[in-house]
Amino acid sequence: MHEMSLAQDIVASVREHVGTERLRSVTKVRIEIGAASGVVSESLQFAFDAIIQNSSLSAATMESTIIPFVVHCYHCGKDSQNDGGYMLCSECDSSDVAIVSGAELILKQIELKEM
Ligand SMILES: [Zn+2]
Repeated sequence: MHEMSLAQDIVASVREHVGTERLRSVTKVRIEIGAASGVVSESLQFAFDAIIQNSSLSAATMESTIIPFVVHCYHCGKDSQNDGGYMLCSECDSSDVAIVSGAELILKQIELKEM
């Protein structure tokens, strides 16, 4: 399962950022999921919950936001959105485009309880 290894990566990043001794104070982990990243947020949530169960991170909840897939067109200079993840400009159909957002899974923020 693709989401299981991603959830493991997220948990590993949280450990790295927060440090083992502060893991118990993590209350929320905010994730941004690109619309074209191929990640199913429900599956990622399920995998995350399974991994943190009975661990020092068990009090944490994951909150995910879907980020639209946007490309910038070098031909007409416009940014356009297509959540199918096509490398095409929706304005002029040029394929001379670069990804602006929406292809990545990003660990956005980690919230800690006040000490
Ligand atoms: Zn264009």
